[in-house]
Amino acid sequence: MRRLEGPEISGYDVTSAAIAKRVRIVRVPVLAPGTDGMTIGTFIFLRRDDDRTGTREIINHELVHVQQFMELGLCRFLGRYVRDYLSELLRLRNHHQAYLAVPFEAEARNIAAQWAHAQPHRPRPLQPSSP
Ligand SMILES: [Zn+2]
Repeated sequence: MRRLEGPEISGYDVTSAAIAKRVRIVRVPVLAPGTDGMTIGTFIFLRRDDDRTGTREIINHELVHVQQFMELGLCRFLGRYVRDYLSELLRLRNHHQAYLAVPFEAEARNIAAQWAHAQPHRPRPLQPSSP
C-alpha cells in the first residue's frame, strides 16, 4: 500500500491535492473479471501499479470515484451505485452494459477521458473498472 507521489498529485488534477494526499493505492492480484481498478472510499485497488508518473488514466478515473465518495459519503455512494446498477441491469439485461450505464461510471469515464485528451502525451488505454 502506498500514497500517491509528488508527480501524481500534481498530474492527477481531477481532485484537489488535499484529497489526493489522502488516497492509498493498494495493489491486488485479482479484481472483478475485466477490471483493472476499483475504489472504496480513499482506497484505490489496482492490478498494476508500475507507473508513478502521474499519467495513468485509470488512476484519474478512480480519483473521480474518490471525489464522488467524498461528496456523498460511503453509504450513499454505494447505495446509489448498487441501485443504479441493478436498475440498468433489469433494463439492459447485460452486466457490462449496465455497468457502463451507471451514472457514476459515466461521469468518471468522461472526466478521465477529457483529462487524457488534454495531456501532451498519449496515456495508456483505460480498461473498464468497478467503483
Ligand atoms: Zn469506475
